[in-house]
Amino acid sequence: PTINKTSLKQTTCAYCGVGCGVDISLLNNVPTKLEGMREHPANFGRLCVKGTHLLDTTGSDNRLTSPLINNQAVTWDEATDHVANKFNDVIQKHGPDAVAFYVSGQLLTEDYYIANKLMKGYIGSGNIDTNSRLCMSSAVAGYKRAFGEDVVPCTYEDLEQTELLILIGSNAAWTHPVLYQRMERAKQLNPNMKVVVIDPRKTDTAELADTFLNIKPGSDAALYNGLLNYLNEHNHLDTQFIAQHTNGFESALQEVQKWSCEAVSDFCDIAIDQVTEFYALFANSPSAISFYSMGINQSSSGVDKCNAIINAHLASGKLLKPGSGPFSITGQPNAMGGREVGGLANQLAAHLDIENEAHQSLVQRFWLSPTIANKAGSNAIDMFDEIAAGKIKAVWIMATNPMVSLPNNAAIKKALETCELVVVSDCIAKSDTLKFADVAFPSTGWGEKNGTVTNSERRISRQRPLVAPYSGAKNDWQIMCEVAKKMRFEGFDFTDPSGIFEEWAQLTDFENNGSRLLNLSGLVGLTKSQYDNLKPIMWPVVKNQPYKNGQVFTNNQFSTADKKARFIPITPQLPVQQTSIDYPFVMNSGRIRDQWHTMSRTGKSTALSSHITRPYIEINPLDASKLAIKQNDLISAIAQTGQVTAHAKVTDAVRKGECFMPIHWNKQFASSATVSGLYQSVVDPLSGQAECKHGAVNIVKA
Ligand code: SF4
Repeated sequence: PTINKTSLKQTTCAYCGVGCGVDISLLNNVPTKLEGMREHPANFGRLCVKGTHLLDTTGSDNRLTSPLINNQAVTWDEATDHVANKFNDVIQKHGPDAVAFYVSGQLLTEDYYIANKLMKGYIGSGNIDTNSRLCMSSAVAGYKRAFGEDVVPCTYEDLEQTELLILIGSNAAWTHPVLYQRMERAKQLNPNMKVVVIDPRKTDTAELADTFLNIKPGSDAALYNGLLNYLNEHNHLDTQFIAQHTNGFESALQEVQKWSCEAVSDFCDIAIDQVTEFYALFANSPSAISFYSMGINQSSSGVDKCNAIINAHLASGKLLKPGSGPFSITGQPNAMGGREVGGLANQLAAHLDIENEAHQSLVQRFWLSPTIANKAGSNAIDMFDEIAAGKIKAVWIMATNPMVSLPNNAAIKKALETCELVVVSDCIAKSDTLKFADVAFPSTGWGEKNGTVTNSERRISRQRPLVAPYSGAKNDWQIMCEVAKKMRFEGFDFTDPSGIFEEWAQLTDFENNGSRLLNLSGLVGLTKSQYDNLKPIMWPVVKNQPYKNGQVFTNNQFSTADKKARFIPITPQLPVQQTSIDYPFVMNSGRIRDQWHTMSRTGKSTALSSHITRPYIEINPLDASKLAIKQNDLISAIAQTGQVTAHAKVTDAVRKGECFMPIHWNKQFASSATVSGLYQSVVDPLSGQAECKHGAVNIVKA
């Protein structure tokens, strides 16, 4: 008789930055049941609908089964030889900056670590950037300017301990649903807790709000400048905190003095009573969280918006205590892990600076590498411009679909057509980007990958394999190590992700005199089995120091040279892509509840695809009436860079003169409705993050 064998595997959801733990039951090594992990501190057993349907998205549908060169199946040896030789040729003829990697928040930290080591320490260029550039690079730059290091100073528990929760530029109900559920529960349990939602769209998140501020898009910095001014004028400053733990208060204050409540009301297009009510709430609340996401970060002045928020928290001392702080939430499962190992073109691993000679030397001595990048490489947008200009001649794209996700996809198409060598590693066989691949590598997907991710509260969790790699697929770190060795580089002899994690943890401790908070020395020396069984843990984890979950900047000592936080004077800027007579509507974009990015996984799930079955454009009833547009009519949004057609959703969730479209649909799903094509390649000058919340379009009946 057959004896059925059951087992349980614990892993982490592949979608958003909440980083929920997932329990998978297996019968004879086949996953059969999925539940939220009760003991995971991110979700305590909860899952959202996307997480619940993770198992629908595994399987053999749309998978590559072998490496391809010019669409012909080849062996791994042939494909890795080809890529290594071509990369070496290009580097020899044109220098290291003629090659680039464009990677993804879907990579595990171990994959990201190898990609960075190869590009920055061995090829010797900074040309590695990630699609997380589109997600949180403004928050990174804002934290770094204020605190001296890219450190999120809050935890999810703070959301349950606060008396005032401000959600600004976040539709958490759809984008980070498990955190939203935690917020709902916290409000039920604490009748004193107030919630303020600030958004140009009235989304489902606004249902939790005591106060909803329906602000003009892009005006957030003025709102927080006004808050700082109000705190000063009404004697709600924490003068002791300002004096002891900060610098630059006077100049920040000077900048906000023109932002009276009247001026804010005018600029942000909200009633003055609402402005003063919000400011009084913040001033009088013993604690406050500003929870923000893409609505703040995806802006041509996103870094300034982040610092305007941080300024108000510094001035009122509402940070580094329970229920308080400026809390940026990432969109992807491993946007945080990526930035920790130097996933952005302007970083080195372990929160070290790429343009700091001492930091370059430190990383090179640790890696014993032949070279080290000594200047920031091209960020996501510049990278594709440089490909189009012929400066970058070979690009390796991993686990991302820039043809759909980057703005101005007509320009991305031109760049990929121009490039001498386009290598794409992906766990799927067809995507709008794979069409341009000279070489395609089949890589493992969720359920096969093995490594770690870091969620939005700095908690490292294991993603564990449930099944063997799909036929023909390899892990991203393995593929890169094979190519690196064929490029004749040493230092890539890894056989298991635990060895990569060990090296990474050692690097965080290397010559770390305490000035860098990112420290995993307490996880150095894990055996393979300890790594396999690693429980979710929040950094820092420092050897020989008692572990305190969530504690950062102890004694209010920041990571700057003088240990003080910085106020940054902020002059609010309008979005660059302004409306005009020809393009009179603002185009906003974002996620819907049940889809993920370019739908390569969630599009496989019938259950998830039944929530919203087709792309749509939200338009205000007043605008619709003027244009004789009725519900579900086909309409086109026309921008300088492109055009999309989709069904009209007439709703007062959007303000007059403004529209909204989901980001997910693309040609792979038989739709021309790729909203990113409507945006110009406009970025924040400090972070390089693209302005994907404010395009200018005309709307016509199709
Ligand atoms: Fe996954 Fe995010 Fe949903 Fe949690 S909230 S189950 S991490 S998609």
